[in-house]
Amino acid sequence: MDQAVAVPQQLDLGLPWCNSFAHLGPAFYTELVPTPLPAPYLVGLNHSLAAELALPPELLASADGVQSFTGNVALRGSLSLATMYSGHQFGVWAGQLGDGRAILLGEVQTPSGPRELQLKGSGRTPYSRMGDGRAVLRSSIREYLASEALFGLGIPTTRALMVTGSDAPVRREEMETAAVVTRVAPSFLRFGHFEHFSAREQYDELRQLADYVIDRFYPACRAGDALAANPYAAFLEQVSERTAAMVAQWQAVGFCHGVMNTDNMSVLGLTIDYGPFQFLDAFDPGHICNHSDEQGRYAYNKQPNVAYWNLFCLGQALLPLIGEQEPALAALESYKTVFPRELQARMGAKLGLLEVRPVDRELIEGILTLLAQDRVDYTIFWRRLTRHVAGESPETVRDLFLQREAFDGWLLQYSERLGTGDRHAAAALMLRTNPKYVLRNHLGELAIRQAKSKDFSGIQHLLALVQAPCDEHPGHDEKAGFPPDWATQIEISCSS
Ligand code: AMP
Ligand code: MG
Repeated sequence: MDQAVAVPQQLDLGLPWCNSFAHLGPAFYTELVPTPLPAPYLVGLNHSLAAELALPPELLASADGVQSFTGNVALRGSLSLATMYSGHQFGVWAGQLGDGRAILLGEVQTPSGPRELQLKGSGRTPYSRMGDGRAVLRSSIREYLASEALFGLGIPTTRALMVTGSDAPVRREEMETAAVVTRVAPSFLRFGHFEHFSAREQYDELRQLADYVIDRFYPACRAGDALAANPYAAFLEQVSERTAAMVAQWQAVGFCHGVMNTDNMSVLGLTIDYGPFQFLDAFDPGHICNHSDEQGRYAYNKQPNVAYWNLFCLGQALLPLIGEQEPALAALESYKTVFPRELQARMGAKLGLLEVRPVDRELIEGILTLLAQDRVDYTIFWRRLTRHVAGESPETVRDLFLQREAFDGWLLQYSERLGTGDRHAAAALMLRTNPKYVLRNHLGELAIRQAKSKDFSGIQHLLALVQAPCDEHPGHDEKAGFPPDWATQIEISCSS
Protein backbone atom coordinates (compact mmCIF):
# COMPACT_ATOMS: atom_id res chain seq x y z
CA MET A 1 0.00 0.00 0.00
CA ASP A 2 1.21 3.51 -0.77
CA GLN A 3 2.67 5.15 2.37
CA ALA A 4 0.62 8.34 1.85
CA VAL A 5 -2.66 6.39 2.02
CA ALA A 6 -1.82 5.07 5.48
CA VAL A 7 -1.50 8.59 6.90
CA PRO A 8 -4.73 10.13 8.22
CA GLN A 9 -5.97 13.22 6.42
CA GLN A 10 -6.36 14.98 9.73
CA LEU A 11 -4.75 14.23 13.06
CA ASP A 12 -6.78 14.96 16.17
CA LEU A 13 -4.60 15.91 19.11
CA GLY A 14 -7.62 16.82 21.23
CA LEU A 15 -6.24 20.32 21.65
CA PRO A 16 -8.59 23.13 22.74
CA TRP A 17 -8.12 25.31 19.66
CA CYS A 18 -9.57 28.81 19.64
CA ASN A 19 -7.72 30.57 16.79
CA SER A 20 -8.52 34.10 17.94
CA PHE A 21 -6.22 35.76 15.40
CA ALA A 22 -8.20 34.21 12.56
CA HIS A 23 -11.28 35.99 13.91
CA LEU A 24 -9.71 39.34 13.08
CA GLY A 25 -10.57 38.77 9.46
CA PRO A 26 -8.82 38.42 6.12
CA ALA A 27 -7.29 41.92 6.14
CA PHE A 28 -4.62 40.53 8.45
CA TYR A 29 -3.64 37.26 6.81
CA THR A 30 -4.04 34.75 4.04
CA GLU A 31 -5.50 31.35 4.83
CA LEU A 32 -3.41 28.57 3.37
CA VAL A 33 -1.98 25.16 4.11
CA PRO A 34 1.69 24.19 4.39
CA THR A 35 3.47 22.62 1.44
CA PRO A 36 4.38 18.99 2.25
CA LEU A 37 7.97 17.78 2.49
CA PRO A 38 8.95 14.25 1.47
CA ALA A 39 9.72 11.56 4.05
CA PRO A 40 9.98 13.71 7.18
CA TYR A 41 11.81 12.50 10.28
CA LEU A 42 12.05 13.70 13.85
CA VAL A 43 15.12 15.79 14.66
CA GLY A 44 14.28 17.12 18.11
CA LEU A 45 11.41 16.99 20.58
CA ASN A 46 11.10 19.28 23.58
CA HIS A 47 9.51 17.16 26.28
CA SER A 48 9.16 19.97 28.78
CA LEU A 49 7.15 22.14 26.38
CA ALA A 50 5.12 19.13 25.22
CA ALA A 51 4.14 18.58 28.87
CA GLU A 52 3.07 22.22 29.21
CA LEU A 53 0.85 21.82 26.18
CA ALA A 54 -0.45 18.49 27.51
CA LEU A 55 0.72 16.78 24.31
CA PRO A 56 1.94 13.20 24.77
CA PRO A 57 5.55 13.06 23.49
CA GLU A 58 5.01 9.61 21.99
CA LEU A 59 2.20 11.03 19.84
CA LEU A 60 4.37 13.94 18.68
CA ALA A 61 7.21 11.55 17.88
CA SER A 62 4.94 9.11 16.04
CA ALA A 63 4.76 9.02 12.25
CA ASP A 64 1.46 10.93 12.41
CA GLY A 65 2.91 13.55 14.73
CA VAL A 66 5.97 14.05 12.55
CA GLN A 67 3.80 14.32 9.42
CA SER A 68 1.54 16.87 11.11
CA PHE A 69 4.28 19.09 12.46
CA THR A 70 6.05 19.07 9.13
CA GLY A 71 2.86 20.39 7.56
CA ASN A 72 2.01 17.25 5.60
CA VAL A 73 -1.15 16.37 7.53
CA ALA A 74 -3.69 18.84 8.90
CA LEU A 75 -4.42 19.04 12.62
CA ARG A 76 -8.11 18.87 13.39
CA GLY A 77 -9.27 22.24 14.74
CA SER A 78 -6.35 24.20 13.34
CA LEU A 79 -6.98 27.05 10.90
CA SER A 80 -3.70 27.67 9.17
CA LEU A 81 -2.70 31.09 7.87
CA ALA A 82 0.20 33.41 7.10
CA THR A 83 0.09 36.91 8.58
CA MET A 84 0.90 40.21 6.94
CA TYR A 85 3.47 42.63 8.31
CA SER A 86 6.04 45.15 7.19
CA GLY A 87 9.14 46.52 8.86
CA HIS A 88 12.37 48.44 8.97
CA GLN A 89 15.34 46.27 8.05
CA PHE A 90 18.81 47.57 8.95
CA GLY A 91 17.31 50.99 9.60
CA VAL A 92 15.53 51.28 6.25
CA TRP A 93 11.82 50.96 5.55
CA ALA A 94 11.43 47.64 3.72
CA GLY A 95 7.69 47.79 3.00
CA GLN A 96 5.62 44.63 3.07
CA LEU A 97 7.29 41.47 4.37
CA GLY A 98 4.96 39.05 6.18
CA ASP A 99 5.20 35.40 7.13
CA GLY A 100 7.25 34.30 4.14
CA ARG A 101 8.00 30.89 5.54
CA ALA A 102 5.97 30.67 8.71
CA ILE A 103 2.44 29.34 8.93
CA LEU A 104 0.30 29.83 12.01
CA LEU A 105 -1.54 26.61 12.80
CA GLY A 106 -3.75 28.34 15.32
CA GLU A 107 -4.02 28.96 19.01
CA VAL A 108 -4.72 26.61 21.90
CA GLN A 109 -5.74 27.30 25.48
CA THR A 110 -3.35 26.10 28.18
CA PRO A 111 -3.29 26.55 31.95
CA SER A 112 -0.61 29.23 31.38
CA GLY A 113 -2.76 31.12 28.89
CA PRO A 114 -3.15 31.07 25.14
CA ARG A 115 -0.39 29.59 23.00
CA GLU A 116 -0.06 29.94 19.26
CA LEU A 117 1.54 27.09 17.33
CA GLN A 118 3.46 28.08 14.23
CA LEU A 119 5.46 26.10 11.68
CA LYS A 120 8.61 27.78 10.35
CA GLY A 121 9.95 26.52 7.04
CA SER A 122 6.67 24.99 5.87
CA GLY A 123 6.62 26.32 2.34
CA ARG A 124 5.87 29.40 0.29
CA THR A 125 3.19 31.90 1.22
CA PRO A 126 1.91 35.03 -0.56
CA TYR A 127 4.58 36.89 1.48
CA SER A 128 7.56 34.80 0.42
CA ARG A 129 8.79 37.35 -2.15
CA MET A 130 11.94 35.82 -3.67
CA GLY A 131 12.28 33.19 -0.93
CA ASP A 132 11.58 29.48 -1.14
CA GLY A 133 9.52 29.33 2.05
CA ARG A 134 11.95 26.85 3.57
CA ALA A 135 14.31 26.78 6.53
CA VAL A 136 17.44 24.64 6.54
CA LEU A 137 18.29 21.98 9.13
CA ARG A 138 21.26 24.00 10.43
CA SER A 139 19.29 27.13 11.30
CA SER A 140 16.30 25.17 12.57
CA ILE A 141 18.50 23.35 15.10
CA ARG A 142 20.01 26.69 16.13
CA GLU A 143 16.57 28.19 16.71
CA TYR A 144 15.34 25.12 18.59
CA LEU A 145 18.30 25.12 20.97
CA ALA A 146 18.69 28.87 21.37
CA SER A 147 15.09 29.64 22.18
CA GLU A 148 15.16 26.97 24.87
CA ALA A 149 18.52 28.30 26.09
CA LEU A 150 17.01 31.74 26.61
CA PHE A 151 13.97 30.21 28.24
CA GLY A 152 16.27 28.28 30.56
CA LEU A 153 17.95 31.55 31.50
CA GLY A 154 14.58 33.08 32.37
CA ILE A 155 14.61 35.43 29.37
CA PRO A 156 11.26 36.02 27.66
CA THR A 157 11.23 34.19 24.33
CA THR A 158 9.23 32.23 21.84
CA ARG A 159 9.83 28.51 22.35
CA ALA A 160 10.28 25.48 20.12
CA LEU A 161 8.28 22.28 20.49
CA MET A 162 9.97 20.20 17.86
CA VAL A 163 12.06 20.09 14.74
CA THR A 164 11.48 17.76 11.87
CA GLY A 165 13.72 17.29 8.85
CA SER A 166 13.48 16.05 5.30
CA ASP A 167 16.20 15.24 2.80
CA ALA A 168 14.56 17.63 0.32
CA PRO A 169 17.37 19.88 -0.93
CA VAL A 170 17.33 23.59 -0.11
CA ARG A 171 19.73 25.98 -1.82
CA ARG A 172 21.60 28.47 0.32
CA GLU A 173 25.33 29.33 -0.12
CA GLU A 174 25.60 25.59 -0.62
CA MET A 175 23.01 22.86 -0.91
CA GLU A 176 21.46 21.96 2.43
CA THR A 177 18.36 20.06 3.52
CA ALA A 178 14.97 21.23 4.75
CA ALA A 179 13.59 21.32 8.28
CA VAL A 180 10.53 22.67 10.04
CA VAL A 181 10.48 24.13 13.56
CA THR A 182 7.24 24.20 15.51
CA ARG A 183 7.35 27.44 17.44
CA VAL A 184 5.13 28.30 20.37
CA ALA A 185 4.32 31.70 21.87
CA PRO A 186 1.31 33.54 23.32
CA SER A 187 1.43 35.64 20.16
CA PHE A 188 3.83 36.11 17.27
CA LEU A 189 2.76 39.72 16.65
CA ARG A 190 5.64 42.03 15.85
CA PHE A 191 6.20 45.79 15.75
CA GLY A 192 6.04 45.31 11.99
CA HIS A 193 2.39 44.23 12.10
CA PHE A 194 1.50 47.69 13.41
CA GLU A 195 3.87 49.47 11.05
CA HIS A 196 2.18 47.69 8.18
CA PHE A 197 -1.33 49.01 8.72
CA SER A 198 -0.10 52.43 9.79
CA ALA A 199 2.06 52.90 6.69
CA ARG A 200 -0.90 51.95 4.52
CA GLU A 201 -3.11 54.37 6.44
CA GLN A 202 -5.46 51.48 7.26
CA TYR A 203 -6.28 52.98 10.62
CA ASP A 204 -9.38 50.85 11.27
CA GLU A 205 -7.26 47.71 11.00
CA LEU A 206 -4.51 49.34 13.04
CA ARG A 207 -7.01 50.00 15.84
CA GLN A 208 -8.51 46.52 15.55
CA LEU A 209 -5.05 44.98 15.92
CA ALA A 210 -4.12 47.22 18.86
CA ASP A 211 -7.41 46.46 20.59
CA TYR A 212 -6.85 42.75 20.05
CA VAL A 213 -3.41 42.82 21.68
CA ILE A 214 -4.48 45.12 24.51
CA ASP A 215 -7.56 43.04 25.34
CA ARG A 216 -5.64 39.79 25.34
CA PHE A 217 -2.27 40.72 26.77
CA TYR A 218 -2.35 44.22 28.21
CA PRO A 219 -5.77 44.63 29.86
CA ALA A 220 -4.23 46.98 32.44
CA CYS A 221 -3.95 49.56 29.63
CA ARG A 222 -7.67 50.09 29.95
CA ALA A 223 -7.72 50.23 33.74
CA GLY A 224 -7.67 53.46 35.71
CA ASP A 225 -8.87 56.85 34.52
CA ALA A 226 -5.64 58.29 33.23
CA LEU A 227 -4.72 55.14 31.33
CA ALA A 228 -8.18 54.48 29.98
CA ALA A 229 -8.06 57.93 28.39
CA ASN A 230 -5.32 56.72 26.08
CA PRO A 231 -4.95 52.93 26.11
CA TYR A 232 -2.72 53.05 23.03
CA ALA A 233 -0.13 55.25 24.75
CA ALA A 234 -0.32 52.91 27.74
CA PHE A 235 0.23 49.98 25.38
CA LEU A 236 3.33 51.65 23.91
CA GLU A 237 4.62 52.23 27.42
CA GLN A 238 4.08 48.59 28.36
CA VAL A 239 5.85 47.34 25.25
CA SER A 240 8.71 49.77 25.95
CA GLU A 241 9.07 48.43 29.47
CA ARG A 242 8.97 44.80 28.44
CA THR A 243 11.46 45.40 25.64
CA ALA A 244 13.76 47.23 28.04
CA ALA A 245 13.65 44.35 30.50
CA MET A 246 14.29 41.80 27.74
CA VAL A 247 17.29 43.64 26.28
CA ALA A 248 18.75 44.18 29.77
CA GLN A 249 18.66 40.40 30.19
CA TRP A 250 20.31 39.88 26.81
CA GLN A 251 23.11 42.25 27.75
CA ALA A 252 23.65 40.69 31.15
CA VAL A 253 23.96 37.17 29.76
CA GLY A 254 26.00 38.23 26.71
CA PHE A 255 23.41 37.42 24.07
CA CYS A 256 23.59 39.07 20.65
CA HIS A 257 20.37 38.81 18.64
CA GLY A 258 22.06 39.72 15.38
CA VAL A 259 19.14 41.04 13.34
CA MET A 260 16.97 43.39 15.37
CA ASN A 261 14.83 44.59 12.49
CA THR A 262 11.42 45.90 13.55
CA ASP A 263 9.79 42.84 12.01
CA ASN A 264 11.84 40.74 14.43
CA MET A 265 10.62 42.60 17.53
CA SER A 266 7.74 41.09 19.51
CA VAL A 267 5.02 43.33 20.95
CA LEU A 268 5.04 41.01 23.97
CA GLY A 269 8.73 41.68 24.61
CA LEU A 270 9.74 38.14 23.62
CA THR A 271 13.00 37.23 21.93
CA ILE A 272 11.87 36.19 18.46
CA ASP A 273 13.36 35.06 15.14
CA TYR A 274 16.62 33.35 15.95
CA GLY A 275 18.90 33.76 12.97
CA PRO A 276 22.48 34.98 13.24
CA PHE A 277 22.42 35.18 17.07
CA GLN A 278 25.42 34.42 19.28
CA PHE A 279 26.28 34.12 22.92
CA LEU A 280 29.53 36.00 23.48
CA ASP A 281 32.67 33.96 23.96
CA ALA A 282 35.41 36.53 24.72
CA PHE A 283 33.95 39.78 26.00
CA ASP A 284 34.07 42.31 23.18
CA PRO A 285 31.47 45.07 23.56
CA GLY A 286 31.55 45.85 19.83
CA HIS A 287 31.12 42.23 18.79
CA ILE A 288 29.13 41.77 15.56
CA CYS A 289 27.75 38.26 15.31
CA ASN A 290 26.01 38.61 11.95
CA HIS A 291 28.41 38.48 9.01
CA SER A 292 25.79 40.20 6.85
CA ASP A 293 25.82 43.22 9.22
CA GLU A 294 28.70 45.11 7.66
CA GLN A 295 28.08 48.38 9.53
CA GLY A 296 27.72 46.67 12.90
CA ARG A 297 24.26 48.13 13.38
CA TYR A 298 23.35 45.19 15.59
CA ALA A 299 26.64 44.85 17.48
CA TYR A 300 26.28 43.66 21.08
CA ASN A 301 26.73 47.11 22.63
CA LYS A 302 24.32 48.73 20.14
CA GLN A 303 21.39 46.49 21.07
CA PRO A 304 19.97 48.76 23.80
CA ASN A 305 19.88 51.80 21.51
CA VAL A 306 18.54 49.84 18.57
CA ALA A 307 15.69 48.53 20.71
CA TYR A 308 14.80 52.12 21.55
CA TRP A 309 15.01 53.08 17.86
CA ASN A 310 12.65 50.20 17.08
CA LEU A 311 10.23 51.29 19.80
CA PHE A 312 10.27 54.73 18.22
CA CYS A 313 9.10 53.11 14.96
CA LEU A 314 6.32 51.38 16.89
CA GLY A 315 5.40 54.71 18.51
CA GLN A 316 5.25 56.37 15.12
CA ALA A 317 3.05 53.54 13.83
CA LEU A 318 0.68 53.94 16.78
CA LEU A 319 0.55 57.74 16.51
CA PRO A 320 -2.74 57.78 14.57
CA LEU A 321 -4.30 55.96 17.55
CA ILE A 322 -2.49 57.84 20.29
CA GLY A 323 -3.44 61.14 18.68
CA GLU A 324 -0.69 63.45 19.89
CA GLN A 325 3.08 63.25 19.90
CA GLU A 326 3.49 64.16 23.53
CA PRO A 327 1.92 61.07 25.14
CA ALA A 328 3.72 58.87 22.60
CA LEU A 329 7.08 60.39 23.51
CA ALA A 330 6.24 60.15 27.20
CA ALA A 331 5.42 56.43 26.78
CA LEU A 332 8.78 55.84 25.10
CA GLU A 333 10.59 57.64 27.92
CA SER A 334 9.91 54.66 30.17
CA TYR A 335 12.52 52.73 28.22
CA LYS A 336 15.18 55.15 29.43
CA THR A 337 14.41 54.48 33.07
CA VAL A 338 13.54 50.79 32.90
CA PHE A 339 16.53 49.67 30.81
CA PRO A 340 19.29 51.04 33.10
CA ARG A 341 17.40 49.96 36.20
CA GLU A 342 16.93 46.41 34.91
CA LEU A 343 20.49 46.18 33.66
CA GLN A 344 21.85 47.35 36.99
CA ALA A 345 19.68 44.80 38.80
CA ARG A 346 20.82 41.98 36.50
CA MET A 347 24.49 42.88 36.77
CA GLY A 348 24.12 43.29 40.52
CA ALA A 349 22.69 39.77 40.72
CA LYS A 350 25.66 38.48 38.71
CA LEU A 351 27.86 39.99 41.41
CA GLY A 352 25.75 38.42 44.13
CA LEU A 353 24.44 41.75 45.39
CA LEU A 354 21.10 41.23 47.02
CA GLU A 355 20.45 44.93 46.93
CA VAL A 356 22.06 47.07 44.25
CA ARG A 357 23.08 50.61 45.19
CA PRO A 358 23.93 53.52 42.88
CA VAL A 359 27.61 53.28 43.91
CA ASP A 360 27.72 49.68 42.60
CA ARG A 361 27.79 51.11 39.10
CA GLU A 362 31.49 51.73 39.49
CA LEU A 363 32.05 48.09 40.40
CA ILE A 364 30.02 46.87 37.42
CA GLU A 365 31.65 49.21 34.93
CA GLY A 366 35.05 48.43 36.38
CA ILE A 367 34.84 44.71 35.74
CA LEU A 368 33.30 45.15 32.29
CA THR A 369 36.22 47.40 31.32
CA LEU A 370 38.74 44.81 32.48
CA LEU A 371 36.88 41.99 30.76
CA ALA A 372 36.86 43.98 27.52
CA GLN A 373 40.53 44.99 27.75
CA ASP A 374 41.68 41.41 28.22
CA ARG A 375 38.96 39.84 26.04
CA VAL A 376 38.12 37.49 28.89
CA ASP A 377 35.58 34.75 28.23
CA TYR A 378 32.33 36.25 29.51
CA THR A 379 30.52 33.14 30.76
CA ILE A 380 33.60 31.48 32.25
CA PHE A 381 34.54 34.65 34.11
CA TRP A 382 31.18 34.94 35.87
CA ARG A 383 31.09 31.25 36.78
CA ARG A 384 34.62 31.27 38.16
CA LEU A 385 33.88 34.42 40.13
CA THR A 386 30.85 32.61 41.50
CA ARG A 387 32.98 29.70 42.64
CA HIS A 388 35.39 32.09 44.30
CA VAL A 389 32.57 33.77 46.22
CA ALA A 390 31.34 30.28 47.14
CA GLY A 391 34.68 29.63 48.84
CA GLU A 392 37.33 28.71 46.27
CA SER A 393 40.62 30.56 46.00
CA PRO A 394 40.60 33.46 43.51
CA GLU A 395 43.38 31.91 41.40
CA THR A 396 41.18 30.38 38.69
CA VAL A 397 39.35 33.62 38.07
CA ARG A 398 42.53 35.68 38.36
CA ASP A 399 44.22 33.46 35.76
CA LEU A 400 41.74 34.72 33.16
CA PHE A 401 43.32 38.18 33.17
CA LEU A 402 46.46 39.51 31.58
CA GLN A 403 46.39 42.60 33.78
CA ARG A 404 46.42 40.72 37.06
CA GLU A 405 47.19 43.73 39.24
CA ALA A 406 44.27 45.64 37.81
CA PHE A 407 42.05 42.64 38.50
CA ASP A 408 43.43 42.32 42.05
CA GLY A 409 42.49 45.96 42.63
CA TRP A 410 38.97 45.33 41.42
CA LEU A 411 38.65 42.13 43.47
CA LEU A 412 39.66 43.97 46.62
CA GLN A 413 37.00 46.59 46.00
CA TYR A 414 34.45 43.84 45.31
CA SER A 415 35.37 41.83 48.40
CA GLU A 416 34.95 44.93 50.54
CA ARG A 417 31.51 45.48 49.08
CA LEU A 418 30.54 41.83 49.63
CA GLY A 419 32.09 41.83 53.08
CA THR A 420 29.27 43.93 54.40
CA GLY A 421 26.67 41.30 53.47
CA ASP A 422 25.90 37.60 53.68
CA ARG A 423 28.45 35.73 51.52
CA HIS A 424 26.45 32.49 51.43
CA ALA A 425 23.40 34.28 50.15
CA ALA A 426 25.58 36.09 47.59
CA ALA A 427 27.05 32.80 46.35
CA ALA A 428 23.60 31.21 46.13
CA LEU A 429 22.31 34.14 44.08
CA MET A 430 25.33 33.99 41.77
CA LEU A 431 24.99 30.23 41.31
CA ARG A 432 21.47 30.64 40.00
CA THR A 433 22.28 33.76 37.96
CA ASN A 434 25.57 33.01 36.23
CA PRO A 435 25.09 30.07 33.85
CA LYS A 436 27.66 27.34 33.54
CA TYR A 437 26.37 26.43 30.08
CA VAL A 438 25.41 28.75 27.26
CA LEU A 439 24.70 27.78 23.68
CA ARG A 440 28.02 28.79 22.22
CA ASN A 441 28.30 28.75 18.45
CA HIS A 442 30.71 25.85 18.37
CA LEU A 443 28.48 23.66 20.56
CA GLY A 444 25.57 24.23 18.21
CA GLU A 445 27.86 23.60 15.26
CA LEU A 446 28.99 20.22 16.60
CA ALA A 447 25.39 19.13 17.16
CA ILE A 448 24.50 20.29 13.65
CA ARG A 449 27.38 18.33 12.08
CA GLN A 450 26.20 15.21 13.89
CA ALA A 451 22.61 15.83 12.82
CA LYS A 452 23.66 16.08 9.19
CA SER A 453 24.64 12.43 9.42
CA LYS A 454 21.31 11.65 11.09
CA ASP A 455 22.62 11.41 14.63
CA PHE A 456 20.34 13.69 16.62
CA SER A 457 21.55 12.68 20.08
CA GLY A 458 23.84 15.71 20.41
CA ILE A 459 20.89 18.05 20.03
CA GLN A 460 18.95 16.48 22.89
CA HIS A 461 22.03 16.42 25.15
CA LEU A 462 22.66 20.08 24.52
CA LEU A 463 18.99 20.87 25.06
CA ALA A 464 19.10 19.29 28.51
CA LEU A 465 22.16 21.36 29.44
CA VAL A 466 20.82 24.70 28.25
CA GLN A 467 17.37 24.16 29.72
CA ALA A 468 18.99 24.06 33.18
CA PRO A 469 22.07 26.20 32.47
CA CYS A 470 23.02 27.00 36.05
CA ASP A 471 23.04 23.34 37.17
CA GLU A 472 26.39 21.56 37.37
CA HIS A 473 25.53 18.56 35.12
CA PRO A 474 28.52 16.49 36.27
CA GLY A 475 30.42 14.83 33.44
CA HIS A 476 29.68 17.58 30.92
CA ASP A 477 32.37 20.05 31.89
CA GLU A 478 33.85 20.07 28.40
CA LYS A 479 30.70 21.87 27.22
CA ALA A 480 31.35 24.59 29.78
CA GLY A 481 34.95 25.14 28.67
CA PHE A 482 36.65 27.65 26.41
CA PRO A 483 35.64 27.59 22.77
CA PRO A 484 38.15 25.87 20.45
CA ASP A 485 40.21 28.01 18.08
CA TRP A 486 38.02 27.09 15.14
CA ALA A 487 34.99 28.68 16.85
CA THR A 488 36.09 32.13 15.64
CA GLN A 489 35.95 30.86 12.05
CA ILE A 490 32.24 30.01 12.23
CA GLU A 491 30.44 32.48 10.00
CA ILE A 492 26.83 33.11 10.85
CA SER A 493 24.84 35.19 8.40
CA CYS A 494 21.20 35.98 7.65
CA SER A 495 21.20 32.94 5.35
CA SER A 496 18.97 30.42 7.04
P1 AMP B 1 14.20 37.37 8.65
O1 AMP B 1 15.39 38.21 8.28
O2 AMP B 1 14.50 35.91 8.76
O3 AMP B 1 13.49 37.90 9.83
O4 AMP B 1 13.18 37.46 7.42
C1 AMP B 1 12.72 38.67 6.88
C2 AMP B 1 11.57 38.39 5.94
O5 AMP B 1 11.98 37.52 4.90
C3 AMP B 1 10.35 37.76 6.57
O6 AMP B 1 9.24 38.26 5.90
C4 AMP B 1 10.56 36.29 6.28
O7 AMP B 1 9.36 35.57 6.28
C5 AMP B 1 11.16 36.35 4.88
N1 AMP B 1 11.99 35.20 4.59
C6 AMP B 1 13.21 34.88 5.09
N2 AMP B 1 13.67 33.74 4.56
C7 AMP B 1 12.73 33.31 3.69
C8 AMP B 1 12.60 32.18 2.82
N3 AMP B 1 13.55 31.27 2.72
N4 AMP B 1 11.47 32.07 2.09
C9 AMP B 1 10.51 32.99 2.17
N5 AMP B 1 10.55 34.07 2.95
C10 AMP B 1 11.65 34.23 3.71
MG1 MG C 1 11.95 37.63 10.80
